[in-house]
Amino acid sequence: MKPRTASLDTRQLGLFDDALGTAASQAVTPEAAPAPLQSPVPEPVAEPFAPAPAVSIASVLAPAVFHHPQGDRQIVLNEHTVGYVLKRVRRRTIGFIVGPEGLSVNAPKWVGIAEIEAGLREKGAWILRKLREQQERSQRLAEAKVAWRDGTAIPFLGETVIVVLDSRAGVTPAGAVLNTDADALPGVPRLTLHVGLPQHAAPEQIRDAVQSWLQRQARRVFEERIRHYAAQLRVTCTRLSLSSAQTRWGSASADGSIRLNWRLIHFAMASIDYVVAHELAHLRHMDHSPRFWDVVRSVLPDYEQVRSSLKDGVVPVFD
Ligand SMILES: [Zn+2]
Repeated sequence: MKPRTASLDTRQLGLFDDALGTAASQAVTPEAAPAPLQSPVPEPVAEPFAPAPAVSIASVLAPAVFHHPQGDRQIVLNEHTVGYVLKRVRRRTIGFIVGPEGLSVNAPKWVGIAEIEAGLREKGAWILRKLREQQERSQRLAEAKVAWRDGTAIPFLGETVIVVLDSRAGVTPAGAVLNTDADALPGVPRLTLHVGLPQHAAPEQIRDAVQSWLQRQARRVFEERIRHYAAQLRVTCTRLSLSSAQTRWGSASADGSIRLNWRLIHFAMASIDYVVAHELAHLRHMDHSPRFWDVVRSVLPDYEQVRSSLKDGVVPVFD
């Protein structure tokens, strides 16, 4: 679960200040409510992230479950189970607040559950988006930043690669070469990435060198897997581009172009294959209908296992 990083007071301070990145809120006015005397709730937050027709992680992957630690109620919004805290307050509108702990609903005492749930559905897309943003934020905070130095461990194709700064051994400056030690003891990483940088290189130089190597590997691996599955699915990928989106693994366009998140290269091949096959299957069906899943299943009979093993809503960032 998410760490509790803020005290109650700072959460309260942050409730209506999305710019601080701590929480966001919206409100609906119940049918029977008298007009508010004043506006206690800020304007709806503009959607900051509105990509072209593409597939969000939430729709690619299994439905998410969002909990609130004090949550006593839950609702299903667009297949996602959302737990929330309901507080009865002296106010004239129903307020929705998404903070680090999850969704809180503040409602006047006289508003019934059916009306609250109608409001939740009305604001469902906004609530889910804010919950995902909170999830990502918590994950980014919780995740120890990678210390970019000699000996750093990076996940690569489901294995661990140890970064070795090596400005001598035939590595082009700021380039990188992967070495495999076939004799490595069990449990000891057998992969080392020799980066053409001196021991005193700045962390940013090391990160840039390793990430550009990872991106080259991602392109190479994705192209190979696309060839493999495109042939099986009898589709043509006209263009592959790499993305580093924080909320999606991939997308497909009707013109045959595919975008894949290069950070997939951290995962085992089964996960990469699933996303590749999923996006290519969209070149047959641009939806998530049963016939779409039949196409995915035709090349990956066990896709559901992989699908649920990929985390919903968060692209892990090793930065
Ligand atoms: Zn899809």
